[in-house]
Amino acid sequence: MSNIKAKIVSEEIKETIRVLSEEVGQRFAGTEGEWDGTEYIYQRLSELGVKTEKQVYPFVGWEPKGTPELEILSPVSQVLKTAYLLFSGSTPNTGIKGKLTYHGVKGLIPGVYDMPCYNVLGVEGDILAQVVVNSGGDPIALLNPRAKFPIPAVVMSNEDHLKIQKLLNEGQDVEVFVKVEGHIKTCKSANIISHPYKTNNTTNRKKVIICAHSDTTLNTPGAYDNGSGVAGIIEIARKLNKNQYDFPFDIDVIAFSNEEVGFIGADYYVNNLKEMGKIDEIAAVINLDQISAGDKIWSWVGPEDFRQKVEESFRESGAYDRNDFTVDVDTPKAGADEWMFHLEGIPTALLMFWRLPDYHRPTDTIEKIEYDKVELIIETVFNLLNKIE
Ligand SMILES: [Zn+2]
Repeated sequence: MSNIKAKIVSEEIKETIRVLSEEVGQRFAGTEGEWDGTEYIYQRLSELGVKTEKQVYPFVGWEPKGTPELEILSPVSQVLKTAYLLFSGSTPNTGIKGKLTYHGVKGLIPGVYDMPCYNVLGVEGDILAQVVVNSGGDPIALLNPRAKFPIPAVVMSNEDHLKIQKLLNEGQDVEVFVKVEGHIKTCKSANIISHPYKTNNTTNRKKVIICAHSDTTLNTPGAYDNGSGVAGIIEIARKLNKNQYDFPFDIDVIAFSNEEVGFIGADYYVNNLKEMGKIDEIAAVINLDQISAGDKIWSWVGPEDFRQKVEESFRESGAYDRNDFTVDVDTPKAGADEWMFHLEGIPTALLMFWRLPDYHRPTDTIEKIEYDKVELIIETVFNLLNKIE
């Protein structure tokens, strides 16, 4: 009986991830794919009979043009692998040439993604461009943490970074060519907000949010990041809508859009609540991001008493007994949607598996989904719901 039930759950989860990663594909901020992804999530929740609404909002997006280029001109001649720094400024379409100097560390996500960065200087010492290292390996699209300063910028591999460091340490001048183009544009997107559970407790009404981001970065179908999290919250909405529970709070299940470009959907939602004087209604936020692969559960949780509840919830779901991954329940970090709520003093938990090597790459596909991990996270969410007062 329990095996049959587990199989049905897996099929539902699989279908959501299949449609998002294979039929819709890349869901980058402000693109048709991003809109189609949110539309699908809206339909799927509605079809389950869960009361669901779209929170449509405009935002300042960014559109890349062509492909970025990075080349060493001297002392060796070599074309390097590169990728976009999202919200980069543009070089002229003929590119720029300049001298590479080490700049410092860009805190893309402080404490998680602190990346070495080079300046490309013109003859008068002005900054023509920047080159940011992906210290995790080959270049992948990364987000410019200082988007209001649109210096043209591209991403470099860690391997090339080590090579260039060596040349600079030997006192050599390194000249590079950089070409990158993109532009700011006004876009429209939507958060999908559903209400699968209403409490019987009508005094002192509070709400718990369970969320996942619906978008992807550039150049990836996003099965693990974050088709898996979306499938997780839809499954949770289905269970909450269908079964009998007795929680002392309402539960909203939300797919936030445009996380990969700076938590834009969550930012809009939180600020809207603040403006309406309703932010105090949120008792806690549980965010599911990248829940289907990796050798470590890396959970970012605060404050301390909520962290203990999360650890206990993982213990109950057997996460500490597994030998195929470790569990690290850590402090909050500015790396995912729940951060916007953390800044308002709300208890937040990111439930995340770290990390599929194909993360943010074209190879983040459905074959790499580990359904038992997705189900373990879902079980942990229910364990945690039982501990929130
Ligand atoms: Zn993600």
